Amino acid sequence: MSNISSLKELHNVLISVNKKYKFFNNVTPLSQLISTVKTDSPIITYALKDNISTKEHPLTCSSKILEGYFPNYDSTVSSLLKHKENWVNLGKLNLDEFGMGSGGVHSANGAVVNPIYDPIKNEVSDEGNFQIEHRVTGGSSSGSAAICSARTPLQKKDAIFDRLAHFALGTDTGGSVRLPAAWCNVLSFKPTYGRISRYGVLPYAHSLDTVGIISSDLKIIKDVYDILDKYDTKDPTSMSESIRKNIKKTDFNEENDVVSVGLIKEFNLTAIPDTTNQILFQFLEGMMNLKGSFELKEVSVKDIGNSLPIYFTLAPAEAASNLARFDGLRYGAKSNLEKSKDNGMFAETRALFGEEVQKRILLGNYNLSSELYDNKYKKAQIMRTEIISQFNDVFKDQHPIYPSNKMQNDDKVDVIISLTGNSKAPLLKEFLESNSHSPLDEFCNDIFTIPMSLAGIPVVSIPIKDSGISIQISGQFGYDDKVLRIAKRVN
Ligand code: GLN
Repeated sequence: MSNISSLKELHNVLISVNKKYKFFNNVTPLSQLISTVKTDSPIITYALKDNISTKEHPLTCSSKILEGYFPNYDSTVSSLLKHKENWVNLGKLNLDEFGMGSGGVHSANGAVVNPIYDPIKNEVSDEGNFQIEHRVTGGSSSGSAAICSARTPLQKKDAIFDRLAHFALGTDTGGSVRLPAAWCNVLSFKPTYGRISRYGVLPYAHSLDTVGIISSDLKIIKDVYDILDKYDTKDPTSMSESIRKNIKKTDFNEENDVVSVGLIKEFNLTAIPDTTNQILFQFLEGMMNLKGSFELKEVSVKDIGNSLPIYFTLAPAEAASNLARFDGLRYGAKSNLEKSKDNGMFAETRALFGEEVQKRILLGNYNLSSELYDNKYKKAQIMRTEIISQFNDVFKDQHPIYPSNKMQNDDKVDVIISLTGNSKAPLLKEFLESNSHSPLDEFCNDIFTIPMSLAGIPVVSIPIKDSGISIQISGQFGYDDKVLRIAKRVN
């Protein structure tokens, strides 16, 4: 089948399944898709989380407040991908509004359906052959994880697409690429903070935001990372050339060298279900037996237990300031100023934010208020630096910006392995119930992902076969390549 007819077929599928699954906020029109295919060489399909700007699509962040907004410019990541021959951008993907959430349920366009537990039906052969369960996708990059996981119903021999997309970009502020990927049983990579440009990516919490990559194939993740891993003058937080040079090219040999793996002792929590722990330990055992060249060590990140309160103080504070621009004047739907009362000038516009976003804005402004600033925001900043330095002391490799004071010794490790989430994807009903019971419950899903975001370090998340559980492999700040190489050996 030619590239063009395969794309037509895929496009039909996307349009028809999207009504139910809500993967996309905007599917690229077929004529536009076809115009990007220049040769007969294989097509690579991808899509972008809808907080990443492209010239061709509206940008919504799954929020009513951005209705009708067209950025008319390309983010650096989208322009880098655009230049690859036969790489086709299928569209813009659903997310928790502005990236705030862990389940993929806080979107003005509705919750994304997890395609593992409710697979896309093949009209011809699948009828009645599967058990439907309504489980959450995970968020906030919910559409990104779901399309990399969903199998196309195109099972003809010559169909070139096994999944709906070869890869997707998401953003990860506190776990938003890793958790949905884990719950959808695919791989993901959150690079070191600053490695991939954020120009044109709408900020949630700018000191934590990173662009991440999701795919069912580690090699694709590495190829995409190599394309995007560039200094960008347009992003003031982009990692400079001199820091990049400071990071030693890994002399680590992925075939032969023994990898020392740290297990964080403070992560040994009683709240982790026994079944999850069993799956993790079996995995570690298999890794030690089969691959032969790993050594396990216990490491300590003493204050890791403070990560959630630190994150949920800092991230909403940054969000409150980043979202202040949506006042209906320059950005955001316009309210009718004539009708507005004095103090209600922005109220009509701001009410377009969903409940979760409003909650974060309130929380953020509260933490930044003059009475609380010292005891909340500033304190959280200081505590964050503690976490950064404790992670720093664990790794053999030197941090390129803050070299560790702790002497090199045998306790140091190449990477840390931990869980990504503490269970498989929860049932949608239970997730929503627990949320309405306690609005903080949802925050607890990020317990294993947030610490690495605070430290800005690179993490690969890998599913453990047939379990619905994933592990994370994290390395020293800047050593993304080494983490990816070790992941290859584990995967
Ligand atoms: N679930 C976390 C939050 O709501 C992380 C989100 C993210 O990484 N964008 O803040």
